[in-house]
Amino acid sequence: MRKKRWPWVVLTLLLSLLIGKHVLLDSAAEPSGKYVIDVDALHRVATAQGGLPEQIEVEKIADFAFPQTFAVAGGGFHMHPMILLAHRVLWPNRSLIIDTAMAPEASKEMPGSHADAAAYGRLQAALLHANTIIVTHEHEDHVGGLAKAPNFSALADKILLTQEQLSSPKLKREDFAPGTLESLKPLSYNGLYLVAPGVVLQKAPGHSPGSQLIYVELANGTRYLFIGDIAWTAENIQTKIGRPGLAKLLMKEDRGAVAAQLQALSELPKDVHVVIAHDPVTYARDVKAGLFHQGFSGL
Ligand SMILES: [Zn+2]
Repeated sequence: MRKKRWPWVVLTLLLSLLIGKHVLLDSAAEPSGKYVIDVDALHRVATAQGGLPEQIEVEKIADFAFPQTFAVAGGGFHMHPMILLAHRVLWPNRSLIIDTAMAPEASKEMPGSHADAAAYGRLQAALLHANTIIVTHEHEDHVGGLAKAPNFSALADKILLTQEQLSSPKLKREDFAPGTLESLKPLSYNGLYLVAPGVVLQKAPGHSPGSQLIYVELANGTRYLFIGDIAWTAENIQTKIGRPGLAKLLMKEDRGAVAAQLQALSELPKDVHVVIAHDPVTYARDVKAGLFHQGFSGL
């Protein structure tokens, strides 16, 4: 008697799909080591020379949305709202920009996107006024505003992209006009690096090779840690569950390194305000609490 084979084929297929879903979407990564965020050391370096900044402004450049399971492994398929932000650190006589979002023409490619062209215009004006421009990492939704800056040569001297960011395979070189990237002087540093009074960098490779933490301490003692995309939502830090295996597949993310960083972030003192680049919930909460002034002023 001939055995029917199709039930086994269907079962194997179903099993493969279930295993694939588990590996790519549902399972959290284990930390690949220990990542240390020494807040006392950051504070010491930030304040060593005095002259701390007085406030931070924020612009929301666009809204978009991803399925929740892309942001938190195992999170399900409902759409998870996300935002693009740019921040401006202000001293009485200088300013520094953290992250430059991306142009409305580029952000409209993102699912569910809505761009604020006026906010993007203010960001471009603020870039021209700024003394220093730094980014949390080299992905296009953080350097896109630089890549498409109408007057790149006027910005080149104040753009501090790190060696790792400039040499990263994740930097979309084709977004930049020919010769512009080559005109930049790479920033090389080890350990903690004071980039401006009150502003300290620490490397945090994982989400991308050029990812870094940006610690900012204001004259009034308020402390911030800009973490870029280590987390996409506060839930990543609270649960210590990062993005799913798909993130490794699509973004070449080092998920073990990110898991170690999420662990360190979850243990920070409560008065260090963690700034998540794409989280609309913490953004609204922080603006309401007066941690950021909404909108770039005086341009
Ligand atoms: Zn991002």
